[in-house]
Amino acid sequence: MSTVSIVKCSDYGMTEVDIAVQESIDLLGGISQYVKPRDRALLKFNLLVGAPPEKAITTHPAVVRAMIDQVRAAGATPLVGDCSAYEGPPNPGRYYSACRLSGIKQVCEEEEVELVHLSAESVEVENPQGRAFKRFTLAKGVVDADVIINLPKLKTHGLTLFTGGVKNNYGCLPGLHKAQMHLRAQGAENFSQMLVDLLLAVWPTLTMMDAVIGMEGDGPRNGRPKKIGAILASTDAVALDAVACEMVGIEPLMVPTTRLAHERGVGVGDLAQIQLLGEPLETTRVADFQLASGSDFFGHTGVLRFLQGRLVAKPVLVAERCQGCWVCVEHCPAGALSKNGQQPAFDYGKCICCYCCQELCPNNAIELRRPLLARMLDRRDEGE
Ligand code: SF4
Ligand code: SF4
Repeated sequence: MSTVSIVKCSDYGMTEVDIAVQESIDLLGGISQYVKPRDRALLKFNLLVGAPPEKAITTHPAVVRAMIDQVRAAGATPLVGDCSAYEGPPNPGRYYSACRLSGIKQVCEEEEVELVHLSAESVEVENPQGRAFKRFTLAKGVVDADVIINLPKLKTHGLTLFTGGVKNNYGCLPGLHKAQMHLRAQGAENFSQMLVDLLLAVWPTLTMMDAVIGMEGDGPRNGRPKKIGAILASTDAVALDAVACEMVGIEPLMVPTTRLAHERGVGVGDLAQIQLLGEPLETTRVADFQLASGSDFFGHTGVLRFLQGRLVAKPVLVAERCQGCWVCVEHCPAGALSKNGQQPAFDYGKCICCYCCQELCPNNAIELRRPLLARMLDRRDEGE
């Protein structure tokens, strides 16, 4: 049995967020249960790219600030950091500029907290319980921390349907190791198994989700902000994701990270085995939450998973939005994108459908389109 607390939080006003964060932790027994005096507590927020907080791409700075206060109240030292996918190879200039755009750098300066360039140093760790990944290269700052406090944002995701507590842990991998992982763990199923292995290597002491304003549609970067109005907390990132999904109308066990983690006994993904504290789920449900356009919901049902290769969405260029910035070309782990005049060209023979290009394009110029067969099956499914 795992426990998840839910506290309503209608906006990012400092007082409201402070109260919600405090209540959500108090419901779990209080911060002193998790953070001890003199601990070094890493607040691992979500910095996919540098973007203003109102875009709902990154963990809101008000949530990071409230968590800093909690850690200090426990007599510990807070540190703040992430390995941003946008950074590519370790690049402090890019990293700190992204942190400034997202408002996190200002919070750290005001609170006099160290903002760690997590990708700068890495270490290899053994992961004996991992199924496929028995070693990981992790950011040294993650390994050195006494306590990891995971601060995800509730968002949709083209590959894994949903990104929350489990997916946010991926930011513990530094620099280009993220891209390498996409090559080694291709497809939603393998990628999600890898994330479950990673959870065994890095189990956050506490996961606190910013679900005040989440992202629907083409997340995790190019979707729309969606008001959800809650802060969630748990020591089990899998259980927290299950509850968050239920709030926004996604069947929890359809999310491959949650299903696979639950099947392997790494956290609890079944709502029947999760104790809820605080606000009842019924009063926090959100209607009409839209998934990413290429979401392979059908492929995740398990009914026709064997057809997934033929059903999977492909990234396509929306030429009129492309500004020729080459972010997609730089970050494609498979070398499937090249410069073709002013715009990128796809080599679908090389594409591994990791969707990094769609995730990182600053102009929403890459969309995920599902093949005709998948759309036909969807229509058939809807008609049943
Ligand atoms: S598709 Fe997006 S990331 Fe790629 S070059 Fe065009 S604008 Fe840049
Ligand atoms: S083209 Fe896009 S989806 Fe395909 S491998 Fe490259 S980054 Fe991933």
